[in-house]
Amino acid sequence: MEKVAIITGASRGIGREIAKQLARNKVKVIANYNQSEKEAKELKAELEKENIEIDIIKADVSKRKEAQELVKFVLDKYKKIDVLVNNAGISEYKMFIDETDEDWNKIINTNLYSAFVMSQEVIPNMVHYKEGCIINISSIWGMVGASLEVLYSISKAGMNGMTKALAKELGPSNIRVNAIAPGIIKTDMNANLTQEELENLEKEIPLERIGKAEDIAKCVKWLIEDNYTTGQVISINGGWTII
Ligand code: NAP
Repeated sequence: MEKVAIITGASRGIGREIAKQLARNKVKVIANYNQSEKEAKELKAELEKENIEIDIIKADVSKRKEAQELVKFVLDKYKKIDVLVNNAGISEYKMFIDETDEDWNKIINTNLYSAFVMSQEVIPNMVHYKEGCIINISSIWGMVGASLEVLYSISKAGMNGMTKALAKELGPSNIRVNAIAPGIIKTDMNANLTQEELENLEKEIPLERIGKAEDIAKCVKWLIEDNYTTGQVISINGGWTII
């Protein structure tokens, strides 16, 4: 049977590209979305033209109940979950001193708590089959920190810590846990940057270009096929951050 993969936040950007890449490579894709129903329907229709069926499921994965319902749908339909890609995320530019409790809750819940709850919900099934692959889409800012994005950096650093610790805990159950930490990737998340700002950033990147969502999706595909990589934070950033 083909592998079953849940991708959170797959209506746009990196998650959408991961969904396409996996679906085109014989993975049964469950593409989660929250607000962008139109884009999720377009993704489904685009793949249908290639005779590929995916499920699109609405859920705010920063809420335990909605995450549970998403996982229940998948288990009722497919009985197993091989892959979880925790991709849903938001960013915000603000002075740390101006951040509110609401900002903290929104960013930490969307970026980090969602990975905690989604992982908790799928792990029992993965343990049952003694097989699984969890991939957390983190960020270079979780490794080196970003000015004006302190909460975002905290959420992604938390994700990196979770990746390493959970990999140790789940290794004996043959469940691999890894993170991908992208540099700058052209998606709506960076739509606020002007052309000039993008060109200036390209000058700072050794490979001299902004990343594409496909650059991240290819690594997700590789991590699913691999079977001896766990607990790693793989940074795909064109050489922008080398540590
Ligand atoms: P994007 O284009 O803004 O897309 C974000 C996706 O997350 C959307 O599909 C959105 O779905 C979904 N999402 C947000 N909140 C959600 C929630 N509560 N429940 C379910 N889905 C939710 O951003 P992106 O650039 O593709 O980012 C994807 C991931 O990569 C994020 O975790 C981000 O932090 C990380 N990342 C991005 C970059 C970059 O330069 N782009 C760099 C490093 C890391 P709806 O629209 O349907 O709500």
